[in-house]
Amino acid sequence: MTNKNLRGKEWFEYRSCRSKRYYADRKAARRSLCTVPGNKKGLKVYPCQFCDGFHIGHEETKEKKKRKRARQESEDVRMQEEAREETG
Ligand SMILES: [Zn+2]
Repeated sequence: MTNKNLRGKEWFEYRSCRSKRYYADRKAARRSLCTVPGNKKGLKVYPCQFCDGFHIGHEETKEKKKRKRARQESEDVRMQEEAREETG
């Protein structure tokens, strides 16, 4: 199966589990994380929801979440303004 054939949950599973290296426990993952060359910032060990092991992945940073929320809020404001214009 190629990546292109994966959809939705399967794609998520592939990205967060099957495409990654499996670690039986958090310690092993941590140890491996220490050997990663270069910038480890934003990398974290997380328990997998698909298998009962651990993987190393990129953490969603506070900045990213903030930006996502800001975009959502600005959309809400725009919708409110449009609604106001319609009611006159
Ligand atoms: Zn997994």
